[in-house]
Amino acid sequence: MLTKTKIYLSSPHMGGTEQNFVKEAFATNWIAPLGPNVDGFENDLKTYLGGDKYVAALSSGTAAIHLALQLLDVSHGDEVLCQSFTFSASANPIMYQGATPVFIDSERETWNMSPELLETAIKDRIEKYKKPKAIIAVHLYGMPYKVNEINAIAKKYDIPVIEDSAEALGSKYFSLECGGLSDMGILSFNGNKIITTSGGGALIVKTKELKDKAVFLSTQARDNAPHYEHSFVGFNYRMSNVLAGIGRGQMEVIDDRVEARRKNFDFYKKHLSQFKEVTFLEEPENFFSNRWITCIETESFELREKLRLELLKDDIETRPLWKPMHMQPVFKDYLHFTNGTSEKLFEKGLCLPSGSNLSQDDLQRILNNITNILKL
Ligand SMILES: *Cc1c(COP(=O)(O)O)cnc(C)c1O
Repeated sequence: MLTKTKIYLSSPHMGGTEQNFVKEAFATNWIAPLGPNVDGFENDLKTYLGGDKYVAALSSGTAAIHLALQLLDVSHGDEVLCQSFTFSASANPIMYQGATPVFIDSERETWNMSPELLETAIKDRIEKYKKPKAIIAVHLYGMPYKVNEINAIAKKYDIPVIEDSAEALGSKYFSLECGGLSDMGILSFNGNKIITTSGGGALIVKTKELKDKAVFLSTQARDNAPHYEHSFVGFNYRMSNVLAGIGRGQMEVIDDRVEARRKNFDFYKKHLSQFKEVTFLEEPENFFSNRWITCIETESFELREKLRLELLKDDIETRPLWKPMHMQPVFKDYLHFTNGTSEKLFEKGLCLPSGSNLSQDDLQRILNNITNILKL
């Protein structure tokens, strides 16, 4: 009998031409955090995002958020409003800056930052003479947040928005690409994301000046001098030319990757919507999710755990939804504005295997396991 292979939640999926770009980097000895692949990858991303933004390729999505906070002058003692329902990397850079996070819960329709709670929080902070310095909103699992509503509130109070699009390359909001919908955007190319450079990220800004400043800071903030001269504290955050080569290859297949992930979602939904114990997150009108991860909300914590543990027995990896930041040991003492949404999602939600490289057999095997449990 064939031994079954492990099915991962979201594994890297190379397109085929990545190695050519990497080989070229070797052949031309551009083994550095600069070179033609970095420029090429940035151009590919810029084109993909509609052509009117500026993109800086960096070592990670986390680095991109950190630089965004730097560019917005967030520093010691400042408050930053951050979506609570997210991965910790959205919030950690606030701490790097010595600033203070304030966590905002989600609404039910997209599972992302609640515009209502956002405004409540802003009003509260302004009343206490602590006007927030920035807002970090997240397109979680690829589903766009309510961009118009969030941007309108941000504009009303004149607070810049950092759009954490780490999970949402290929998602669209009213036909516009996620990543370029707010003041600044960030992308991640970590191994589990929709495309990967094994590790990497990008910062998306609206002007060439901001991009130049980001690149300057990401390459140790060297002043223009023949010797090493520094007037600012810099970072080593630039993407390497070797990894950018992988990114160029991946950009050739991004549309296929989005299509494959959306097909996974359709498959799960088609076969599981007969069971009332599980529900799916639907796209509101004019929201287009890349369906980076297909998530289900089960009727109880017990059912979620049963599914997770039974699937694990068959070597199938699933994971509970993100544990909200306001519940994390490291952040629980920070101010938060909550409504119960993310806590409930964490309790009952499960991420299903969603890689773009899942075979039909893999999907069938996962489905059989799930239906066997739900039929009991
Ligand atoms: C992956 C991720 C990040 C961080 O990206 P890295 O490239 O891993 O540093 C930030 N925010 C969210 C929501 C993510 O999923």
